[in-house]
Amino acid sequence: MPRWGMVIDLLKCIGCYGCQTSCKAEHATPPGVTLARVEVTEVGTYPNVTRVNLPLLCMQCNNPPCESVCPTKATQQRADGIVWVDEDKCIGCKYCMIACPYGARYFIEDRRGYFGDQGLTPYEEAGYQGQRTGVVVKCDYCMHRIDAGLAKGLTPGVDREATPACVINCMAKARFFGDLEDPNSEVAQLAARAQAFQLNPEFGTNPNTQYLPAGRAVTVETPSAPTHKR
Ligand code: SF4
Ligand code: SF4
Repeated sequence: MPRWGMVIDLLKCIGCYGCQTSCKAEHATPPGVTLARVEVTEVGTYPNVTRVNLPLLCMQCNNPPCESVCPTKATQQRADGIVWVDEDKCIGCKYCMIACPYGARYFIEDRRGYFGDQGLTPYEEAGYQGQRTGVVVKCDYCMHRIDAGLAKGLTPGVDREATPACVINCMAKARFFGDLEDPNSEVAQLAARAQAFQLNPEFGTNPNTQYLPAGRAVTVETPSAPTHKR
């Protein structure tokens, strides 16, 4: 059984927001909902301070605190490690949003568009079709792409069609995806490097999303989780 994971090389990330934009396009998320976001953070102590572009998404924790608090079992972890939300079971209680220490979850209140009184664009109309409101959403490593790709005999992380949208659209090639259990996969080899690190290991969540450091910066920490109003 694979265990899907991602490694993000902070030295390569140029802060272009391509991952954020491609994720919004892939999932047709409304304003205020950013399943893959880029934050700019600072590490070091004055005068030796470095600015770091920090791409954030669901860390796909091996020990996901969001799963255990969900009263309806809407949040589930698959055998391949992916943590996802079954929207048919979600009652919108938001317990998982409080439990997630990485601020990776968003409540979908309504399907507002980006252009206010002008109404929805044809693109938004099409993207919102079939999507529910009153539920919590999060990054699931584009599992629809992974599952459809596997059904066609493709390899996630190698074949674009079977790989998360943020990875294939990263112009700096800073994001790597694949099977952490396969020692021959690029992502497993990067994760095995001594410098590879998880965000805030003290949380005990053991994420499958990992990072390579930005130059002198050894590690960075999750910026304060955003306050999600929607
Ligand atoms: Fe579970 Fe939905 Fe409540 Fe989150 S908001 S804890 S997914 S029922
Ligand atoms: Fe759950 Fe948050 Fe971990 Fe994702 S990052 S698995 S939402 S606790």
